Amino acid sequence: MISPDVALRAAAHALGIQVSIDGPAGSGKTTVGKGLSSALGCAYLDTGLMYRAITWLAIQQGLRPDDGPSLAALTRSTTFALGGQGNSLLINGRPPDEQLRSRAVDAAVSIVSAHAAVRRELVVRQREMALGRCIVMVGRDIGTVVLPDADVKLWIVASPAERARRRLAEHLPGTSGLSLAEAERQIMERDAQDTGRSVSPLKRPEPAIEIDTGLLTPEQCVEQALDVVRDIAGHAVKGEERNRG
Ligand code: C5P
Repeated sequence: MISPDVALRAAAHALGIQVSIDGPAGSGKTTVGKGLSSALGCAYLDTGLMYRAITWLAIQQGLRPDDGPSLAALTRSTTFALGGQGNSLLINGRPPDEQLRSRAVDAAVSIVSAHAAVRRELVVRQREMALGRCIVMVGRDIGTVVLPDADVKLWIVASPAERARRRLAEHLPGTSGLSLAEAERQIMERDAQDTGRSVSPLKRPEPAIEIDTGLLTPEQCVEQALDVVRDIAGHAVKGEERNRG
């Protein structure tokens, strides 16, 4: 359990601190992001859920993952808002469905998210939700494209074997009966699709602070991220004081 740092929370809100968290599938971005946003009392946006939501709605409506124009129209007609628990994502007014993590969505989401028109629309929505507020945003292109001026940029990594092990340990829908080797193969396939696409590929933002979650406990990961925010918020507060005085 991370002990609350009241002064840091106040500074993060006063400064409207924005944190981008990027990294490959299963690297621990969600754990770091949720822990950090709850320690800072800031909004939390998992942008992967937005791409997953469009994919799941497309599956339900019988749209093909390569049908860019229909997917773009679907994206435009979907609403996203930060109003869920802990200021998290609501999709068409509802919390994310468990099916967003199903095997069917896993298999198609990288194809859906490679469409430029889908990304353009979702990036606009992500920026709108972040406007003028303290936020922790998690994804693949947050520090590079969505929030290029983020105050803190984190790059979260772990080995493919560790990421596959975690995926099976989470017992997500669609993982029952999956072998470790197959889970690792699927993860590496999604990495290849995400890093290889021409629009907003998965890429380490520069500069970014790297956290290897395979070497740390979840609490240590969040503490390390908090240290980075503390450092940057401290500098920003000092800068403001200097400008005033
Ligand atoms: O983070 P998560 O594994 O839930 O993301 C699911 C997929 O959504 C990724 O594999 C990627 O294809 C896509 N995605 C993206 N850009 C983001 C977040 C997710 O392309 N900012």
